[in-house]
Amino acid sequence: MAARKFFVGGNWKCNGTGEDVKKIVTVLNEAEVPSEDVVEVVVSPPFVFLPQVKGLLRPDFSVAAQNCWVRKGGAFTGEISAEMLVNLQVPWVILGHSERRALMGESSDFVADKIAYALSQGIKVIACIGETLEQREAGTTMEVVAAQTKAIAEKISDWTNVVLAYEPVWAIGTGKVATPAQAQEVHDGLRKWLVTNVSPAVAESTRIIYRGSVNGANCKELAAKPDVDGFLVGGASLKPEFVDIIKSAT
Ligand code: PEP
Repeated sequence: MAARKFFVGGNWKCNGTGEDVKKIVTVLNEAEVPSEDVVEVVVSPPFVFLPQVKGLLRPDFSVAAQNCWVRKGGAFTGEISAEMLVNLQVPWVILGHSERRALMGESSDFVADKIAYALSQGIKVIACIGETLEQREAGTTMEVVAAQTKAIAEKISDWTNVVLAYEPVWAIGTGKVATPAQAQEVHDGLRKWLVTNVSPAVAESTRIIYRGSVNGANCKELAAKPDVDGFLVGGASLKPEFVDIIKSAT
């Protein structure tokens, strides 16, 4: 089995001041964590702090933007283009986060277009998918995540620079976490979907990470599941316990 390097992302969302950012980066820079051969760490501050964080952050960690525009920049007030991220040497972007899907009305097709465009510009993508509570209760979890993944698969051919981030939307910021068995079940289903609908090689090499109220206490058990290749962490990525989550890679 080809090894998939463990991936830990920290999504700081719309939080913090310049001072907070300095404090978080100091904690990260002083932390003893497994080497970058073992774990890839990517933190995602708000846009305005990206250059500051990039400048201060230890060289073995990298940064992600939390969004970018769907195509080349221009007259799109308030948007940030993929070209701008390239210009700032921001290597990663989070796209399709459930908060953007729900609050900004981003459809699966729009998210897939964004993913395709960001990849075409050489930016690596943390692509978010996941079901709502109603969908889970209706028994349609796999159908929903397969449809979201299909929208992406129809628009990209190279998965090398994609990390698939599965989130039960009901577990985002709520303190409710999918059990390790629930996470494994969906990750396994997604990998099988990739085998059938993309290719066995892509299924084998693509990292499928879990998100939704991951913290220092629950990360180890989740990380032990064979198809959980890491995490995207929201709330806990602003706290020192993010270091414990990085350490769950080993
Ligand atoms: C997220 O929004 O990506 C996330 C995982 O948030 P939290 O960890 O706070 O649930």
